[in-house]
Amino acid sequence: MRILVINTGSSSIKYQLFEMKDESVISSGIAEKIGEEIGILRHREDGKEEIRKERFPDHRSAFILIEEYLRRKDISAVGHRVVHGGERLKKSVIIDEEVIKAIKENIPLAPIHNPSNLEGIIISKELFPDIPHVAVFDTAFHQTMPDEAFLYSIPYRLYERYRIRRYGFHGTSHAYILEASASYLGIPKEKANLITIHLGNGASITAIKNGKSIDTSMGMTPLEGLMMGTRSGDIDPAIPFFLMDHVGLRPEEVYRILNSESGLRGICGRNDMREIIELREKGDRMADLAIRMYTRRVKKYIGAYMAILGKIDAIVFTAGIGENSPYIRRKCLEGLDIFGIRIDKEKNRRNEKEISSEDSSIKILVIPTNEELRIARETKKILEEMG
Ligand code: AMP
Repeated sequence: MRILVINTGSSSIKYQLFEMKDESVISSGIAEKIGEEIGILRHREDGKEEIRKERFPDHRSAFILIEEYLRRKDISAVGHRVVHGGERLKKSVIIDEEVIKAIKENIPLAPIHNPSNLEGIIISKELFPDIPHVAVFDTAFHQTMPDEAFLYSIPYRLYERYRIRRYGFHGTSHAYILEASASYLGIPKEKANLITIHLGNGASITAIKNGKSIDTSMGMTPLEGLMMGTRSGDIDPAIPFFLMDHVGLRPEEVYRILNSESGLRGICGRNDMREIIELREKGDRMADLAIRMYTRRVKKYIGAYMAILGKIDAIVFTAGIGENSPYIRRKCLEGLDIFGIRIDKEKNRRNEKEISSEDSSIKILVIPTNEELRIARETKKILEEMG
């Protein structure tokens, strides 16, 4: 069975075609700079990369070129990444008119992501008409959170009327990490108690009890929680009002500052962690400050989630920074020895899969995430359930 995974962003389309027999990638690619003067499509297959530079005025034009590469590839189904499933879409589903309507209804909750996800679905349903299309939601994994975790302490009627609540994101990544960690630890995933830490350009942390998300740091939108590349994460909710009333900013300017000009970039001018670490090593004070703030916030969440979870099998790092930066992992866990969290410096430096020391009572793991593979597996599961 071959499954095509599609992730449509506002100016890009990523795709991967999986052979599910051995979960290998047959071909993959990315179309970027959609809507700009010159677009670019990189298609990889058989160890070779083909690059096409041409203008993609819209998503459809890029999809048409992608379809040319994927024609006659015997695709059984398409799995689509969808950022916001809201409360109604709790699991991966076959996309029909009802599902399209529900994704549309969630646009106010994810105004940047859901419209392009939806556009990708509509166009690829036209281009690949005779096969099932499945939606896999970033929010779905967190739908198991109890009400005391997902509600904000604001008037309950705002939840009832507008569905204002914590949804959580990166669910596909946290769910993949759960499966991979349980398999590494040799325990059933239904019994796994974990803290999973996704540190990429976006960042989130999840408390998993008995294989279910019971709390997570991102909220109604991906702006809440940890400090990120350009997003502020948690701040005093009065700050936006101060910026509007006393500084004279418009709501959309405040939104832009919190989403695109804050986080690591807001403190030290860069949002790429590799560059920030290099700057710090050269003595840059603001880079050092940004890292201290970033890792302190992760540590605070680890403490909070340990208190909620009680027994923990492992703390797991993933995504660009979590997978590749021994320094950041070490800083996040510094001083946690008294809670039985002990890192082995050498194993950590070598980016080994298990980086805890022999005497650590909680295991510390580093596991590369693979959201595309998780989407392909979900799609396959849905097809099998259909029979
Ligand atoms: P992602 O969004 O998962 O692709 O992660 C992107 C982030 O990972 C960027 O901030 C990169 O600088 C960071 N990253 C990738 N490799 C490294 C590395 N070796 N050390 C530190 N950060 C890294």
